[in-house]
Amino acid sequence: MAETFDISLDSLAGRSVAPGNGAAAHLSVASVASHLNGATFFLETFGCQMNDHDSEKVAGVLLSRGYRQVESPEAASLVLYNTCSIREKAAQKVFSRLGEYRTKQAAGQVIGVLGCVAQQEGEDIFERAPWVSLVCGSASYRKLPELLARVEAGNQRVTGLDTDTDETFETPVTRRDNPWRAYLTIIEGCDKACAYCVVPYTRGPERSRASDSVLKEVRELAELGYSEVQLLGQTVNSYADPSSRRRRFSELLLAVADVPGMRRVRFTTSHPRDFGADIVAALETQPRLCNHVHLPVQSGSTRVLRAMTRTYTRAEYLEKIAMLRGARRPIAITTDIIVGFPGETEEDFGETLSLLDEVRYDGMFSFKYSPRPNTPSLAMPDAISEEEKSRRLAILQKKQGEIQGERNAALVGTKFEILVSGKSRRENQWSGHSGCHKVVNFTSQRRELLGTYVQVLVTGAGHNSLVGQQVT
Ligand code: SAM
Ligand code: SF4
Repeated sequence: MAETFDISLDSLAGRSVAPGNGAAAHLSVASVASHLNGATFFLETFGCQMNDHDSEKVAGVLLSRGYRQVESPEAASLVLYNTCSIREKAAQKVFSRLGEYRTKQAAGQVIGVLGCVAQQEGEDIFERAPWVSLVCGSASYRKLPELLARVEAGNQRVTGLDTDTDETFETPVTRRDNPWRAYLTIIEGCDKACAYCVVPYTRGPERSRASDSVLKEVRELAELGYSEVQLLGQTVNSYADPSSRRRRFSELLLAVADVPGMRRVRFTTSHPRDFGADIVAALETQPRLCNHVHLPVQSGSTRVLRAMTRTYTRAEYLEKIAMLRGARRPIAITTDIIVGFPGETEEDFGETLSLLDEVRYDGMFSFKYSPRPNTPSLAMPDAISEEEKSRRLAILQKKQGEIQGERNAALVGTKFEILVSGKSRRENQWSGHSGCHKVVNFTSQRRELLGTYVQVLVTGAGHNSLVGQQVT
């Protein structure tokens, strides 16, 4: 059984501001622009990698305005929550955080709600939590400096809730949390309109960043010492270069991988509809493109996929899987699945289970369907009870756990290159990710491994991770 280690980057002292890393170089902007005496901020992020990366950009904007980041809300003059509303639980968390915080709020403190809940609830947040003075949706981040200026001037109810935009949020002052792997958003918003999903509503329409601008930032990241870049988008492979270059997504992948200094290029999340043979060909030919694809299926039943407006059938999805499995090098495949979509029958659920057997994913994120405001599925009949959703989720997760256990066990005796990103409290124990995105916990007698690439021989396997020992 694989052991799990404390691999939290937070445990690494100075991870975001250590001299000599990329984050520090960006931070130098802050001291120049400082104009707020002693202003501090606390920023908590909920949700996906795109939210994490949005927070890195928001932090950069604040630092460049002269704010200093602090570790607790109590110590901050500006408290910001970057929120997620993909499922009801995530949205509720924010309101309970705001409620908890109300009692502790110090005089003169400014509280702001950013991201998807801000977009979804809009000005109602001021009614539910009158101590909030800034509400800014994800599609309005480019206006953040202007909104902050109004907050700093003492305005009580400042909003940025525009979604009607063709602009992306680009800033030269991103403060990245990880010194080795950089997130980079290449497409914002979503046009896919899945029946259950709030994203098109909270993040606005799809808009891509010009490919030359992406490549310029990747070159800058390489110069700052980053060796892994993860290109982000809700549907990253729907990327449509707005510049006259008109690079396809697969061409952009290859161009990013060609940037000197970049050793690993990842991308997430891919939509099955836009996943073509050209992407597989790029992965086959360029080893710096990581051999892992996250391809959410959501359901194994064509009937449910149709109700979800996923724009592909089970058979069409399986054609994409066959393309990936037929590649000249092994490509790990992970997915997202929703159980208990309205009207999902036992037979439909059985088809999702059989899809797991057919694809044998390397990993899966699974969710109980959560009805969300403004989504078409809200009005659909035949809701599935919470109890039944929980039952299906448990069956699904048990099956996938067994598949992952078997797949991982088959890797014992193989070697992986690992980017070392964590050090355990236990002596000589380290962790990191393989190119195919497996978590590997391993032993090494060496002292300074963080941020380096090492070869690890896999000696054991669990459902969620591998164990091994360094061999070079
Ligand atoms: N854009 C990606 C895609 O199309 O797969 C991912 C978007 S979302 C941030 C991540 C996952 O959350 C989705 O793939 C889906 O499985 C899940 N999700 C989205 N809306 C949901 C809902 N209303 N209830 C339960 N899960 C949901
Ligand atoms: Fe949501 Fe569907 Fe867009 Fe993904 S593709 S963000 S699930 S609407």
